[in-house]
Amino acid sequence: MPRSRIARPPASRTAETSPYRDELRWDDVVWSSHCVDCYPGNCPFRAYVRDGVIWREEQAGTYGVVEPGVPDMNPMGCQKGVGWSFTHAAAERILHPMRRVGARGSGKWERISWDEALDEVADAVIDAAGEPGPESIFYETSPAQGGMVGVVAVARFIGMLGGVAIDLEGVINDFNSGMYATYGKFNVSSVDDWFHADRILIWHMNPAYTRIPFYHYVAEARYRGARVYTIAPDVSPSAMHADTYVPVRPGSDAALALAMCRVVIDEGRYDVRFVREQTDLPLLVRDDTGRFLRESDMREGGRDDQFFALDEKSKTLVRADRGSLRWGQTVPSLDGRINVRLADGGRVRVRPVFARLREHLKAYSPEAASASCGTHPDLIRAIARDCAGAKTSILLGFNSCKYYHCDLMERSMLLFLALTGNWGKKGTGARSWSAGPFDGPFISGMKTRPGAAGAREVLAARQLGIDMLRAQDPTLTDELATLELLSMVPMHRKIVPAFFLLERYAGYGDVWNRRGWGDPTLPRSFDEYFREAREAGWWSGMNDGSVPPRVFIEVGGNVLRRTRGGQNMLLRNFWPMLKMVATVDFHMTTTALQSDILLPAANHGEKLNVHYATPHVMQVLLADRAVAPAGEAKPEWEIFQLLARRVSERARARGLTSFSDRDGTVRNWADIGEGYTQGELYRSDERLVDEWIRDSAIAGNIPKTSTLARLRKKGFVRVEGWGASPLAVTQASEIRPDRTHVPNRDHVEKKYPYPTLTRRAQFYIDHPWFLEAGEALPTHKETPAMGGDYPLQMTSGHMRWSIHSSNVTNRLMLATHRGEPFIFVNPADAARRGVGEGDRIRVFNDMGEFFVAAKLTPGVRPGQVVMYNGWDPAQFSGWRGPMDIEPGMVKPLLLAGGYGHIRYRPGMWQPVPVDRATRVEFERAAGRCRGNATDDGACMRRVSRRRSNGSG
Ligand code: SF4
Repeated sequence: MPRSRIARPPASRTAETSPYRDELRWDDVVWSSHCVDCYPGNCPFRAYVRDGVIWREEQAGTYGVVEPGVPDMNPMGCQKGVGWSFTHAAAERILHPMRRVGARGSGKWERISWDEALDEVADAVIDAAGEPGPESIFYETSPAQGGMVGVVAVARFIGMLGGVAIDLEGVINDFNSGMYATYGKFNVSSVDDWFHADRILIWHMNPAYTRIPFYHYVAEARYRGARVYTIAPDVSPSAMHADTYVPVRPGSDAALALAMCRVVIDEGRYDVRFVREQTDLPLLVRDDTGRFLRESDMREGGRDDQFFALDEKSKTLVRADRGSLRWGQTVPSLDGRINVRLADGGRVRVRPVFARLREHLKAYSPEAASASCGTHPDLIRAIARDCAGAKTSILLGFNSCKYYHCDLMERSMLLFLALTGNWGKKGTGARSWSAGPFDGPFISGMKTRPGAAGAREVLAARQLGIDMLRAQDPTLTDELATLELLSMVPMHRKIVPAFFLLERYAGYGDVWNRRGWGDPTLPRSFDEYFREAREAGWWSGMNDGSVPPRVFIEVGGNVLRRTRGGQNMLLRNFWPMLKMVATVDFHMTTTALQSDILLPAANHGEKLNVHYATPHVMQVLLADRAVAPAGEAKPEWEIFQLLARRVSERARARGLTSFSDRDGTVRNWADIGEGYTQGELYRSDERLVDEWIRDSAIAGNIPKTSTLARLRKKGFVRVEGWGASPLAVTQASEIRPDRTHVPNRDHVEKKYPYPTLTRRAQFYIDHPWFLEAGEALPTHKETPAMGGDYPLQMTSGHMRWSIHSSNVTNRLMLATHRGEPFIFVNPADAARRGVGEGDRIRVFNDMGEFFVAAKLTPGVRPGQVVMYNGWDPAQFSGWRGPMDIEPGMVKPLLLAGGYGHIRYRPGMWQPVPVDRATRVEFERAAGRCRGNATDDGACMRRVSRRRSNGSG
């Protein structure tokens, strides 16, 4: 099999010439990497192979300079990556297919053949597809599935069956709801653009832990003269590298940001031109209803989505152009008032959102805000003044997403960026995530015939859809039309937001309705919101999880680790409904331990793969196979094609010919196996990946001449175009080959509209629920007492060696990190409870308890405990960790719909469970912690014990 051989060892490096050099002998060098979406990863690595094993991994450092004067991205890599090969031969490695022989989670397994394992899973799939139907077959979309090949392998299998994917956003909750509410999308700059910032606000991010390959841009920007602020409740590891550490109470960031907004407005430091042009702040709002003035208010049959401003010169109403942000000769007023005649003959006074905002911010003087956020008023003023007029970038991580009022925090932070004119330009903006631009896998999924002709047909069909939408609405840009198309795709029936499953089958309805755990300022219970949303039809036409689950296939993910309230809720309620839990993974996880069948997957370095391409890095990166899979492990592409064929064979043996889904689509069992690989066409992953690369070239993502063979020479290729993916097109910015990437330039430079209801960056949400909740404008609200009435708030973040939990049991990493789970507590809090350094403590609330070692640090504020996530529950006593006492509360307003961009789109707007600032208490516990394991034994030792007992 051809591989990306980089070099042969020089002849001189042999034992004959030097025994010392024998230590550095290798047989082969291959382009490799780790496709675990350590967002964004994409580090080119050289894997050195000797005697059939990866003997050494090395950062390649081969990315080129993009923009003269801006440091390149090299060396790229992290400690997890350079030690990845330790996971190849780890004790927790799954080497053979295994079948549970005791109760789930009992740890009793027997080794079985691949044939037996495939039969078991295939039979369960066939049973479920018959009754209650194929929609009862679920898989969890997980970024840890193993790069593009792993993702597509399971998605294609489930898709052929008519099964259902659980929407990723609701699973992992990296959903920047406030950014989405403001822009109608989310996006990112390339990481090298951080270098251009004059002010960097590290806010809800800890790049020293989580962005190891890119952290150097923060330091380099500082050397260039940028000032760096780290805004966080605790002195995070990133705080020590900042010029200024800004302490803020957990969950009170909106108060801080709004006070900063007030300062720049009060002191006239805001960018009037930017505000008028890019935002909805000039749009007029009715004094009587608090709703935007719409054309339909003033004229029978008028548009509901036509909004108005007041021209400062003529004092007349002016339509806000839906196709452009330009105001022409109009100077939209930010403070004026006017009476307008309504269609029913009445009159109403209207004024711009900005005037309302000015009034709203009266409650957010730095002194008043300080009482909420704890940040000194002088410091609030200083940050606001320092950033106004400077290129300011907010390094927003995915921490804000996990707060109950994430939307309010992020809307407030973006409001500050809007007032200071800080997006769509180099060194500015806030960061979220984005995928693409590598269209090959998506094109191949829709092709009706192989090769370039098939790809061109798919792209032509997409263009036809866009042209038809444009014919109906000529104001649609490519970006807007692409998002509309996404909303229309019938695949919505095959994706379910996790929320519906959790509510219906995992018992979360009781949790979400629990008195005192939700937002006390909301007028209704969670159930009432949910009922209203359903009655309004906001979630109709999509999969609402009404078919009960029967088969759950986990590929690379670990649903029992990352689901808030995980085992407490899922094992008790969801798991018993499942006739089959099959886990495809390279190592034991808590979910694997609770499965029925284990299918061993090839690890990174043992299979051909392509990283998730992202605008952060702007490269398509190959991760090639350096060594053969360990034991009987197989690449996911092979596993699922075997499974697809086995499903067809078993159905035939059982005399079954076809089945149908709830939409009435009839599928033939015989087609599943053949269709999966289109006969012999895509049997080989080589052929599959080559076709993806060629199709991506046709879509314009990468150079026209790109092939797998060419990619193998260099290991990566720079992205040239966004292609067709909605998540890439929403970058709204042309790619320049010699410039860092800055999203949203189309809006700022070309005045293209935003994909929001008002077609502007929208800070005023006049949805009835938002008005009623007092959240039409960004505001500060306290995090509710999730988990019960307890004095401490438990916050989190990715721990040092975990971007996803794939590496959390890597012994090399554990040896650098205490080797066991621990929780940071303030010494004063610890002393009050008689707890000393390293003591074993019981952390508890109304949801449950877990035991963990206490690490005392004054870097954590009194009243806060920091339990970094990523640890597998099986590394804790009783296999219960912090996730098991997080209620996973969902903010009911995220159920809103029927309002422009506030509606469901896969991977975007939807209700998501949160965990930050869960209320807890702790006390000293019996027993003690020991070096590398909790006192009743680390999970993975148990796993190894079982293995040595002959259980697999
Ligand atoms: Fe890069 Fe991720 Fe590999 Fe680390 S684990 S070296 S961040 S690809």
